[in-house]
Amino acid sequence: MKRCVYADHAATTPLMPEALEAMLPFMKGDFGNPSSIHSWARKPREAVREVRATIAECIGAEPEEISFTSGGTEADNWAVKGSGRGLLVSAYEHHAVLNAAAHEAGGGRMVVYARPTRNGVIGVRQIADAWQKGIGLVSVMTANNEIGTVNDVGALAAEAHSRGALFHTDAVQAVGHIPIDARKLDVDFLSASAHKFNGSKGIGFLFVRKGLKLASLLDGGQQEDGRRAGTENVEAIVGMAAALKANCARMVRVGKRLDGLAERLRGELVAAFPDAVFPGAGAPRQLPGFVSVALPGRSGEGLVHILDLKRIAVSAGAACDSRNTQVSHVLKAIRFPVRLAKGVIRISLGAENTLEDVRRIVDAMR
Ligand code: PLP
Repeated sequence: MKRCVYADHAATTPLMPEALEAMLPFMKGDFGNPSSIHSWARKPREAVREVRATIAECIGAEPEEISFTSGGTEADNWAVKGSGRGLLVSAYEHHAVLNAAAHEAGGGRMVVYARPTRNGVIGVRQIADAWQKGIGLVSVMTANNEIGTVNDVGALAAEAHSRGALFHTDAVQAVGHIPIDARKLDVDFLSASAHKFNGSKGIGFLFVRKGLKLASLLDGGQQEDGRRAGTENVEAIVGMAAALKANCARMVRVGKRLDGLAERLRGELVAAFPDAVFPGAGAPRQLPGFVSVALPGRSGEGLVHILDLKRIAVSAGAACDSRNTQVSHVLKAIRFPVRLAKGVIRISLGAENTLEDVRRIVDAMR
């Protein structure tokens, strides 16, 4: 029987053996609560302290700048809701940012939207065009989860700062896949999620630049130095650090290989479907292994089902939103033609995918 082909890594990634191995002791003997004062707490507490430093090192931060969260959604909500003044967000953010911003707007806070270019990029120009007096936080994603385009976050952070605002980036699709250095990028807040880089689900972190304060989202205990209440998910935190460290170590090699595979995939798709269109392909930079393609006259959702029957996993638009059959807000924001938008599928390759997988995906779509 043919091997399964999982090509939906933007939705979630398989747990790495390194992560599982790191997690197991904390699910067995070392199960203590890090906040306890007896000796059961020692190993979990030490582990959380150590891996906070590991994570910080992987993203160019200090350990005290990392706060663990229940994933990307919480990190985004925290950054958006925890800071006070007017908000500028891009119109093609993940719903974790967009709906948090809508919640804030409902409470009377000023929210304005920057529209990405047709190539799927937010640049300094788009921030300037949307700018209004009173904006205190700009939030623009590092990489888009539907079309894989990568923004120049350093330039955007500099633009926000030059206008007196703080800058948040949702780096959920980028961390563990492309080099991220919070210090060099000069961002104030940065969100990440472990299950997008071979850690487990329901764990992530928010980078908060030293000296900045965010209002807390959760009322409760004094965990995370009083920044985020709730008993730490020790095993998931430890697994996240192991996965991030392993991914950072292999990032350049895997990234190059995935860029090559994505190029082959685009080439084979064009050969098989000469009228194929690639939303976001005109952007200066794409995530490694990421191909969003529209096949005119076909249904993206239909294709997902056809491929699924052939044991191949891809996605139609964003997986988080797979029950929403309307044209995605991302494709709308980049003015992608509606008649083509229904035929879009997202193929997101990962480290374990091969050239053989690429050929099988294209063959299965014919
Ligand atoms: N931000 C982006 C860009 C995402 O792709 C996702 C998940 O798809 C999230 C946020 C939400 O992350 P999580 O699933 O960890 O809540």
